[in-house]
Amino acid sequence: MSHREHHRTDRVGWLRAAVLGANDGIVSTASLIIGVAAAKAEHSEILVAGVAGLVAGAMSMAAGEYVSVHSQADTEKADLERERKELALSPEHELEELRGIYVDRGLDEDLASEVAKQLTAHDALGSHARDELGISSVMSARPVQAAVFSAVSFAVGASLPLLVTALLAGSMMIPVVAISSLIFLALLGGVAARAGGASILTGSLRVLFWGAMAMGATALVGKLFGTVV
Ligand SMILES: [Zn+2]
Repeated sequence: MSHREHHRTDRVGWLRAAVLGANDGIVSTASLIIGVAAAKAEHSEILVAGVAGLVAGAMSMAAGEYVSVHSQADTEKADLERERKELALSPEHELEELRGIYVDRGLDEDLASEVAKQLTAHDALGSHARDELGISSVMSARPVQAAVFSAVSFAVGASLPLLVTALLAGSMMIPVVAISSLIFLALLGGVAARAGGASILTGSLRVLFWGAMAMGATALVGKLFGTVV
């Protein structure tokens, strides 16, 4: 009877990216809203600034993620191309290399030779990609998915303080946006920590600290700016 193991790595990767994107969305949009509000802007102006912040942030996250993951994809492609050439030029040397990798992983010489021979016969490039370069189909870079994913998670995060702002005007808006955003951050930090098997309290406090710092700084700048202009 086969037993199914659930490893955290399967889900941590995308969950961590989602939480980081949402965190960014909450912190940067809440800070923007609080900064503009502290400068005594009209409610409609604050909302416009918040929506512009959401769109700008989501687009820059998508662009940044696309470029960085794409360059990773380019590197992987170049490595695979070089490996393909080496396999064609010196198959004995490549076989020896693969055997060495398996010996280093603990197989005895004879078994390592046999495994290297059979895997090479089955899929030489795939074996070298996986065992020598560490490129597997699971981990291979997908720039478009990564870009869309981080833009959506940023937008979802940013929409939380924006929603609070849309529902609330007047003197209570800044404290309510700040407190509700800190609660969202603490929840997200706790979820990410829990999913990664780390302490929920530490995870929450960490994002709370930086979120509060960012909102405090923009409130200060907004207040100074509001008095000067
Ligand atoms: Zn190789």
